[in-house]
Amino acid sequence: MEVDVLIVGAGPAGSTTARFCAGKDLGVLLIDRRKEIGYPVQCGEFLPDASEMYTMFPRSMDLEEQFTIDPALIAAEIDHLDLISPRGRVYRLGFKGFTLDRRSFDKHLAKLAVEAGARLETGESFLGIKDGVARTTMGDVKAKVIVGADGPNSKTARSAGLQNPDVRYPAITCQADGSFEPVVRMYFGTLAPGGYGWVIPKRKGANVGIGFNPGLLKDRPSELFRRFIDRLGMTYSDVAMGFVPQSGPVIDTVKGNVILVGDAAGHVMATNGGGVPLAMIAGRIAGKSIRAHLKDGAPLAEYERRWRYVMDKPLSDALWTRRLGDLFFPSDRRTEFAMRVLGKRGLARAIRCTKVFYVF
Ligand SMILES: Cc1cc2nc3c(=O)[nH]c(=O)nc-3n(C[C@H](O)[C@H](O)[C@H](O)COP(=O)(O)OP(=O)(O)OC[C@H]3O[C@@H](n4cnc5c(N)ncnc54)[C@H](O)[C@@H]3O)c2cc1C
Repeated sequence: MEVDVLIVGAGPAGSTTARFCAGKDLGVLLIDRRKEIGYPVQCGEFLPDASEMYTMFPRSMDLEEQFTIDPALIAAEIDHLDLISPRGRVYRLGFKGFTLDRRSFDKHLAKLAVEAGARLETGESFLGIKDGVARTTMGDVKAKVIVGADGPNSKTARSAGLQNPDVRYPAITCQADGSFEPVVRMYFGTLAPGGYGWVIPKRKGANVGIGFNPGLLKDRPSELFRRFIDRLGMTYSDVAMGFVPQSGPVIDTVKGNVILVGDAAGHVMATNGGGVPLAMIAGRIAGKSIRAHLKDGAPLAEYERRWRYVMDKPLSDALWTRRLGDLFFPSDRRTEFAMRVLGKRGLARAIRCTKVFYVF
């Protein structure tokens, strides 16, 4: 089979890339190994609103186009984050965002791609690249451009001789029952060493989970998760595990006719683990860059230049802060101390991908 663009992975990165490059004049094939797009949900489902994204990524443009979310896909509107220290001290920060219904949200993004003209095939896997041709469970696919939007353990990247994010933190999530005020709660300390535990409210129940540095782990991940849930005293279902890139963007996101987008490219904020908005921003840049490449002969490498212009500084500042945090996180006492020293202002800077001290 021959197509102009093969996109591997119909998560936020792949579907958005497909949406912005597809059209009657370009044949775009979007494949995902999942039978149902967006399920299981391996996500906390939190999305900052457009105003927060402009604050964190001031060079981004036209975010309203992507971050004006259909109310049917929103499970709660959020005004505040509570950052909770190991001893229970609460630092409340104003922060606007939404809890998504990600099972529906990912389907919605895939539908926009199909409406733009992409062909979507679910239950189909990318297997590798041989002699420049992509091998898939649908057979060989010859494509002018191949997009790796297949998550943090991207087979597309490895097949093309590109890197995967070299640090990936495990994260476990579930859907909990109960009613919750519209505040995201983030719990720090050895309950989730090097990361945090979260309660992200929904209209009914909450998304609850933990993400942590596996190098600091003393127990099994399942034990850590059970202890966190027990402490909150919740009943829950739909437990799922995934990995969150934590080493910043990979060195190269373009090689030959292959490009990487979203988690595959390490497009994740290291201080909060958020990757959905960046997958969408990078996907839009990727889709437009591919179109300019195939229709007007622009170099594919323009994609890398353009996403770095928007994201490089905030993502490297976030990485710097996370590495600083690694000095404190192994101990509850030091975490408590660091949170007191930073106070609300420093913590707000960290969450928003700005260096916590005024250092350049
Ligand atoms: C537990 C957890 C909680 C999180 N919480 C949040 C949060 O609250 N907010 C936030 O912004 N981010 C969060 N993240 C991160 C966020 O989920 C990711 O950054 C985001 O999903 C990245 O989108 P993506 O499209 O790059 O990758 P993905 O959403 O992972 O999509 C990749 C797709 O590729 C498909 N695929 C993989 N390999 C192949 C193959 N060989 N062939 C075909 N298809 C393939 C997969 O099936 C998948 O559908 C969380 C992550 C985890 C693990």
